[in-house]
Amino acid sequence: MNGLMMDYPLTLQHFLDRVARLYPTKEIATKIGPTMHRYTYADWAKRVNRLAGVLERLGVARGERVGTLAWNTYRHYELYFAVPCAGRVLHTLNLRLPPDQLVYVINHAEDQVIFADASLVPLLDKIKGHLKSVKHFVVMADGALPASALSPVSSYEELLAAESDSFAWPHLEENEAAAMCYTSGTTGNPKAALYSHRAIFLHSLAQGMSGSFGISERDIVLPVVPMFHANAWGLPFTSTMVGAKQVFPGPHLSPPDLLNLIQSERVTITAGVPTIWIGILAELERNGHYDISSLRTMPVGGSAVPRALMEKYEKKYGVPITQAWGMTEMTPLGTVSVLKSYMADWPEERRFDYRVKQGMPSVGVDIRAVDEDGKEVPWDGKTMGELEVRGPWIISAYYKMEGNQDRFHDGWFRTGDVVSIDPEGYIQIVDRTKDLVKSGGEWISSVDLENAIMAHPKVLEAAVIAINHPRWQERPLALVVAKADFKGQISKEEIQEMLAAKFTKWWVPDDVVFIDAVPKTSVGKFDKKVLRDQFKDHVLPA
Ligand code: ADP
Repeated sequence: MNGLMMDYPLTLQHFLDRVARLYPTKEIATKIGPTMHRYTYADWAKRVNRLAGVLERLGVARGERVGTLAWNTYRHYELYFAVPCAGRVLHTLNLRLPPDQLVYVINHAEDQVIFADASLVPLLDKIKGHLKSVKHFVVMADGALPASALSPVSSYEELLAAESDSFAWPHLEENEAAAMCYTSGTTGNPKAALYSHRAIFLHSLAQGMSGSFGISERDIVLPVVPMFHANAWGLPFTSTMVGAKQVFPGPHLSPPDLLNLIQSERVTITAGVPTIWIGILAELERNGHYDISSLRTMPVGGSAVPRALMEKYEKKYGVPITQAWGMTEMTPLGTVSVLKSYMADWPEERRFDYRVKQGMPSVGVDIRAVDEDGKEVPWDGKTMGELEVRGPWIISAYYKMEGNQDRFHDGWFRTGDVVSIDPEGYIQIVDRTKDLVKSGGEWISSVDLENAIMAHPKVLEAAVIAINHPRWQERPLALVVAKADFKGQISKEEIQEMLAAKFTKWWVPDDVVFIDAVPKTSVGKFDKKVLRDQFKDHVLPA
């Protein structure tokens, strides 16, 4: 027997309409050069209506993809709603991808139009000859359009000026595609996830909950995570849903820029990958004059959060990091590391033991870990297995891809992450399967070693990779970046002794090499593919 509920589609049109009616005076602020651009949700909604008219005028058909090549700005945020609410598909392009991969994803998605920030036009100029589907370029500029060879090309502001404040929004089904995003290719070629309205709607509800990021109308939200990295982790959608003030950093992502922005806008929530917060911490330690007391939490994910980083922010600056784990394939929220109420009484050490785990599954996400035979492993906090997930905002297939479909089976998605799950239901990522060091038939977690090394007071960053070994198959090599003030003042033996005190002997890296910086991926993660390549001929000491 069926229930008797209205058939109300869960689409982003509801968020758009709601915020415009309920929170018209709340502000959206974007840093542009030395000044701030400010307007309200009422202003924003009018421009979103106009922008939908532009899509119609440019002849983009329902369901077709619209590419964006842009920083985190109010214009990008206008596209975030106009495109899906008009029944087109928002495809956020990763502006840090190498040109050949950018060409690949634009052609693969068959983007019809590309909306680009003026500062990124030179990037498009370079690849335009290889684009097969793009019929129009639209440039988002504050003044005159930059000179370029793009054709046909229009000015975003001129197109908007010609449209009306009220667009006749089409009826949408909740399962229609709203947006798409390619993985950043940390471990392979980019693969596409296609998100439905329903997925984003439910994801926003879950992310906003107090047992999750707890985002409310009172918050001032600054997504440092790029709007092309899994929809800035969904934050612009969730913030719209609740009517929170939003702050966009534009291209100004240096630690002083971000700290000044947090201070001047009184930001309460800011989110990004650990490397961002490592850089910001170094700046805070150098110049202690910033006031970041408005922050009530920082969701950090994308890679494991080093414990030392979490402890420093909380104990010295009073800012708790909320670690989250997710994937582009999951819209992206999977787990959040918030403590249960009875854990509040635990000793501090034990609380941190828990907080550095990747956390409990969000409502809406089922998890399990399986061994190599596909058998579920117990939730004992020890046994390792590959994490599998299912839920309403997890893709059921990659978009237009023949390979990789083995990652979906029996309604579950294989994440490629090796984890243990403890009796409280918290997962701990041991490693990505591709980053594990397989030594003598046993596994060594590169993540655990890195975190331990990064706890050393003289160390800024550390990455551990596997080096082929004739006897043990693989052995760990540690690549370490010393803090600016300690260059040349830290020894290999110091690192090895520290690790020997913490781990069993065979986990200790056979060698430690000091480097100037750990290479980063296009979304700011440690790029171990590059390191493995750089050190493929490295000879470990006997
Ligand atoms: P890419 O696969 O290109 O890196 P994603 O950003 O979607 O793109 O990466 C998802 C992966 O990032 C996860 O499968 C996991 O390996 C890693 N990850 C995300 N959050 C965390 C976290 N909090 N701790 C450890 N690893 C994480």
